[in-house]
Amino acid sequence: MFSLYKKYLDVIDAQLAEEFKSQKPFIKCKKGCSLCCEIGDYPLSRLEMEYLMAGLPELDIQIQKKIRLSIKALLAEKQKADERFMHRCPFLSDEKLCYLYERRGLVCRTYGLASFENYKGKTCIKLPECVKDGLNYSDAFDGKEVEIEKFKNFGVVAPVKHSLSLNYYEKNLPSDFSGLEFGEIRPLLDWFIQKALK
Ligand code: SF4
Repeated sequence: MFSLYKKYLDVIDAQLAEEFKSQKPFIKCKKGCSLCCEIGDYPLSRLEMEYLMAGLPELDIQIQKKIRLSIKALLAEKQKADERFMHRCPFLSDEKLCYLYERRGLVCRTYGLASFENYKGKTCIKLPECVKDGLNYSDAFDGKEVEIEKFKNFGVVAPVKHSLSLNYYEKNLPSDFSGLEFGEIRPLLDWFIQKALK
């Protein structure tokens, strides 16, 4: 069912490995650092969500229960929230590892890189949010001013030359993957509002 998507992920993972290599002087990502999974709303397309959830039955039964309970608790909290609800990802383990790492979405795979973004008709460089927490890019940038020359000084080829948004990846599929349909995009928890977990 997911064979085309798995092939697509192989291509994307190879591309992203090159991007991370290119930006290495600025990158502080390492195993056990889970800041990007601690706070967010994790937008995922239908395809990504279905692929992620297909991995749930493969986990230990106690872990599955823990994840389901965590989702229920988060949904209750979300109902009371009156603005964008940001939360810890229910798939993050106590050891700060992703239970479904191989199945994680594009938002998880791309986090940490700098990229070009179109902002109000102007092209600018977008740094990862964790720059504010002393992580990626914090040695070189204050998070406000980003000059392309600085990248060159650090020997970095360039930030990713396009937006890292899911919309971008969906609209720019390589021709081999034109049959791939991502479907609607929602914050992770919203996928559980209409369709309860079994
Ligand atoms: S799915 Fe995994 S990688 Fe993505 S935010 Fe959740 S714990 Fe982190």
